[in-house]
Amino acid sequence: MKKIFVLLFAISLGNFAFAQETTAPVMHQVSVEELKTFSVLYTQKAAEYRALCYQAFNSAKWTLEKDLKHKKRKEKWAIITDLDETIIDNSYFNAQLIKEGVDFTEAKWKQWTNLSAATAVPGGVEFLQWAASKGIEIFYISNRDTSEVTTTVINLNKLQLPNADAAHCLFRSNKSNKEDRRHKVAENHKIVMLMGDNLNDHAEVFEKKPVDERFAETDKAKEQWGHRYIVLPNAFYGEWENALYNYQRNLSIEQRKKILMDLLKGF
Ligand SMILES: [Mg+2]
Repeated sequence: MKKIFVLLFAISLGNFAFAQETTAPVMHQVSVEELKTFSVLYTQKAAEYRALCYQAFNSAKWTLEKDLKHKKRKEKWAIITDLDETIIDNSYFNAQLIKEGVDFTEAKWKQWTNLSAATAVPGGVEFLQWAASKGIEIFYISNRDTSEVTTTVINLNKLQLPNADAAHCLFRSNKSNKEDRRHKVAENHKIVMLMGDNLNDHAEVFEKKPVDERFAETDKAKEQWGHRYIVLPNAFYGEWENALYNYQRNLSIEQRKKILMDLLKGF
């Protein structure tokens, strides 16, 4: 059969096109993950991404160094941190989906987390080790499933993270909202910092809000960023992405592309 070239296109943080040789006389089905190619590459290949991570953890350390001077001896301080794309890097998972031309499934995700092979977000391990050396306890509040605690603890120990045990891993059992788990930590600790790549990691006010309300809540808390709230960059998934689609699930690739193009502001 005569070979034809089919143009695949994808949009993410910009537009790009590339050609794929195929023997099949059908259009290639672009996967949802393929829309994220540039975002995943930004995490894996942009020095700017690394610099942003160091910037976040440097801010965290400077803040705590100042605050520690006022710590009362009896107080038990805690840092609450998210895991995925805050302390550990799962970009390999999304890169693999893109390479295989498939979309996210829970089974595929488990295949990745079972490897306990996520690497550290730059600067995160050093910062948390430093905080632990100052007597601050670290709690990992993650929306990984509770069935993933064992493989995750193995991963965290490989990276030499402090408090890397099941007692400090508060994972999702019935709901993704983290507020109850934050309250649980607050029962016995003073929470001095919250770290995440998703604003839901910091406060409940961001949950399930449309884009403009997320902006408004972010502005209201502007004094907190870089102090009590530390944010890590994640351009390839998160609540910000769900908000773009107004939290609609199971949209087709064509529906997604239309929504994204409609949202883009030109001049
Ligand atoms: Mg995360």
